[in-house]
Amino acid sequence: MSKTLTGIGASSGIAIAKAFLLETPDLSVEKTTVNDVSAEEEKFDNALAKAKGELEKIKEKTLNELGEEHAEIFSAHLLVLSDPEFVDAIRGKVKDEKSNAGYAVKEVSDMFVSMFENMDNEYMKERAADIRDVSKRVLAHVLGKKLVSLAEIDEEVVVIADDLTPSDTAQLNGEFVKGFATDIGGRTSHSAIMARSMEIPAVVGTKEITSSADFDTMVIVDGIDGTVIVDPSDDEVSEYKKKQEDFAEKKKEWAKLVNDPTESKDGHHVELAANIGTPNDLEGVINNGAEGIGLYRTEFLYMGRDELPTEEEQYEAYKKVVEDMDGKPVVIRTLDIGGDKELPYLDLPKEMNPFLGFRAIRLCLEKDDMFRTQLRALLRASAFGNLKIMFPMIATLDEFRQAKAILTEEKEKLQEAGTDVSDDIEVGIMVEIPSTAVMADTFAKEVDFFSIGTNDLIQYTMAADRMNEQVSYLYQPYNPAILRLVKMVIDAAHKEGKWAGMCGEMAGDEVAIPLLLGLGLDEFSMSATSVLPARSQISKLTKKEAEEVAEKALAMETAEDVKAFVEETFLQDKAI
Ligand code: PEP
Ligand code: MG
Repeated sequence: MSKTLTGIGASSGIAIAKAFLLETPDLSVEKTTVNDVSAEEEKFDNALAKAKGELEKIKEKTLNELGEEHAEIFSAHLLVLSDPEFVDAIRGKVKDEKSNAGYAVKEVSDMFVSMFENMDNEYMKERAADIRDVSKRVLAHVLGKKLVSLAEIDEEVVVIADDLTPSDTAQLNGEFVKGFATDIGGRTSHSAIMARSMEIPAVVGTKEITSSADFDTMVIVDGIDGTVIVDPSDDEVSEYKKKQEDFAEKKKEWAKLVNDPTESKDGHHVELAANIGTPNDLEGVINNGAEGIGLYRTEFLYMGRDELPTEEEQYEAYKKVVEDMDGKPVVIRTLDIGGDKELPYLDLPKEMNPFLGFRAIRLCLEKDDMFRTQLRALLRASAFGNLKIMFPMIATLDEFRQAKAILTEEKEKLQEAGTDVSDDIEVGIMVEIPSTAVMADTFAKEVDFFSIGTNDLIQYTMAADRMNEQVSYLYQPYNPAILRLVKMVIDAAHKEGKWAGMCGEMAGDEVAIPLLLGLGLDEFSMSATSVLPARSQISKLTKKEAEEVAEKALAMETAEDVKAFVEETFLQDKAI
């Protein structure tokens, strides 16, 4: 019997494939004294052989797909497993101390890890991580547990997990990973946002996918309606294959608009831009006909590594984006680490409320060197295109002034040294904290633009964690409270002759789009895959009727009333 789970549709599309369960097995092991030493030795030898076999395979695959440099890490792992000092120490524990094999592996690996970690030589210190990794693999085999890694997926699957971190998501290979479904998470968690830019259908917050499906169970992920069907019947598979085809047809229709400007039926132009996380996303931006980049989340440059990116590395990445966009506007946001995006190597203390904590501009103003390095890279890249700089999580005017002053200092230093820097870089802020939305009239006198970050603005206004599916009903983009804040920001910008954009997920939401058009939003920035459906939708609306609907919505009582009203007025023939 099939089972249908309801979650939050995080990325459109339909995936039908067998499940790949991503979970970290419990590798804890207690010491016991064994009677049958040779059985324990055999257990270890088998585990060692299996681990070696796996590593050979991964090394081969990495070598073919990513080249020698990446494959080296697995050669280092294999070396550990062939090192007599390491292997004999484990065998010795089993033989002489009658230790269970699992505990022997753990004890010896802990000893080697701490020995290497305490060495002065950087190269040797790094070997500690290899030993830790490789021992985990052997231990898992000794304990009969399955150790899974996203990088090893080489057939078509739907990944199911309790949660996926942004760095897990970055490792997903779109060729094989047809979709994913998680127990927890909301529409604006960063793994959901990344799934959209990777065009991987996803449903998050199903609460029970990991307890409902196992390795190889067939699953259907319907990212359009936010459902997951576990163990579907033949009829269900046929039904969803049809839905998959219909969606592909719709995409073909949208693709015809790729070179068109974005204009309402009565000729009002707005800019449709895309959000990106890395320069690799540019292909999607260009293929989907975005008119600019409204948000480049630079934190991904800092993640999935062991140290801060250098100025040169950052400069190359920013320069590539502005050059490839060929004069179109590119809004680059300075580092927004914190919340659900961690940087372990910064060694920041664990916080009770990471989304309310030491993140984004708060962290950058404190870590002056790190911030200045990024600003210099941005300033240098500005000479190659239309680059705009945006500060995240601004709560007070003073934070903006401090950040701007540091930017000006770095700019002057570069100019004095004869480095090319653009003369007209716009400097704006994200409006994602209610205090800033309320004070937008004051900010508008000093900033060049606003970009409304509704993912955070909604979580802070409604006091509802964007990662927590228990309170996801409070993610209410159509709540009149949110609409009124958005209106305040847009009106304040226009009063000072500035522009207002939106780069939160709300900007690409088909119910919100008519309201935002009516409120006068100038720039809509969204996942690249939402650009063409949004262009199609806007071409069928008039600015005038959108204004009338927005005005009525502002005076309504609830988000449900607003949604029903917009759907009734504009969305009878639902796009997706
Ligand atoms: C937002 O908060 O709306 C936003 C775009 O930033 P992020 O999702 O990266 O927090
Ligand atoms: Mg944000």
